Amino acid sequence: MSYLLERAWVDGAVQDDVLVEIEDGRFTSVTPGGAPRHLSEEISANQSRVPRSSGEFARLPGLTIPGLANCHSHAFHRALRGRTQRERGSFWTWRDQMYDVAGRLDPDTYLELATVTYREMVAAGITCVGEFHYLHHQPDGSPYDDPNEMGLVLIEAARRAGLRITLLDTCYLSSGFGKPPEGPQVRFSDGDVDAWVERVTAIGSPDHTRIGGAYHSVRAVPLDQMKRYTAAPLHIHLSEQVAENEQCLAAYGMTPTQVFAEAGHLTEHNTLVHATHLTEDDIRIIGEARTFACFCPTTERDLGDGIGPSRALHAAGTPLTLGSDSHAVIDLFEEMRALELDERLATQERGHWTAPELLGAATRHDSLHWDDAGAIAVGRRADLVTIATDRVRTAGTGADEHTAVFAAAAEDVIQVVADGRAVFQEGDRERLGRDLADVIGRIWS
Ligand SMILES: [Zn+2]
Repeated sequence: MSYLLERAWVDGAVQDDVLVEIEDGRFTSVTPGGAPRHLSEEISANQSRVPRSSGEFARLPGLTIPGLANCHSHAFHRALRGRTQRERGSFWTWRDQMYDVAGRLDPDTYLELATVTYREMVAAGITCVGEFHYLHHQPDGSPYDDPNEMGLVLIEAARRAGLRITLLDTCYLSSGFGKPPEGPQVRFSDGDVDAWVERVTAIGSPDHTRIGGAYHSVRAVPLDQMKRYTAAPLHIHLSEQVAENEQCLAAYGMTPTQVFAEAGHLTEHNTLVHATHLTEDDIRIIGEARTFACFCPTTERDLGDGIGPSRALHAAGTPLTLGSDSHAVIDLFEEMRALELDERLATQERGHWTAPELLGAATRHDSLHWDDAGAIAVGRRADLVTIATDRVRTAGTGADEHTAVFAAAAEDVIQVVADGRAVFQEGDRERLGRDLADVIGRIWS
């Protein structure tokens, strides 16, 4: 299959008329200015946003970028969107509502919910998701017949939606420092790290899948247990709430960052989600270790978490990634610009992040252990995300990287190719809306 991209982000710049050829899901050639002259003229004259085949390649009008990586997701939180805003509440009252949804799900309903959620991701240009998965067991805490049934449901949902998944199976052992799981949390727990590892080791990984681990948080996995696992990738909710930092200091005399480091996990293979409330020393040791930091600004603003020191972490040596986490919004364009806009609010200065840096954060798949995706380049996985540049929101913005980062929204995505397969076209959006309403409506009824 071949595509002729009107404009595309290739080698760190937007280039015109990029001809890409794809075999077995990978780019075999990428040629800027690769269109025969008569076709280039036809493309610039063509106002249609719908790709049309011409000879042996399809033309994609608009701006095409690499596939986006959503590095932090809890698929079932999608059912909470718009339903947690009625009372003032706190992070902890929001958590009670989230547990309400968790309590309603079984493997059948979770498959439906995760499938529509992942389809929404694909429609937003996301070609790979890191699913931070802790809803493992039955409501009374006993395992399903296959103890990995809920994880397998997520892998199947990703296959149906057409994106890759890194299943970050999440260890959750305690409700708080020294407190056993209670209520809905018994579904999350395996008892200890060894039992968790034994269960996770049994999960198979089909072609579109990687298996990784996660610790829910420093409050959910005791330090002595944390040390018992040494594989990667390992993700953790690091430091989302000030209250949890204070409890961590009281329990260990260390910050959450210091606890994770003490457990031996501050490495370049692992990811810190919500690196929000950090000391200067935390930032220094995270940067020196080159540990990934995954920022989820739309969730962090929704939950009132605070603004993490993204630029300081980057300056210290940390690669940044992005995630939509609670799915209050599924829109990595919004997450990209939020990194910059949040820094502006915090410092009353502009110009912390450049558009190429932010596009780089949204398109890096390596923290999910897919090292061969995230660029339109020969040998890479053939992911293409095309943004309409003639929409009300994007028209007149230059059709370059600033359009992608500072103007576009998920709804401007008109075509998505993942691993060489066309997995979304703009005409699919209407049906997706109906399916989301149907599935989520039934969960709450
Ligand atoms: Zn999370």
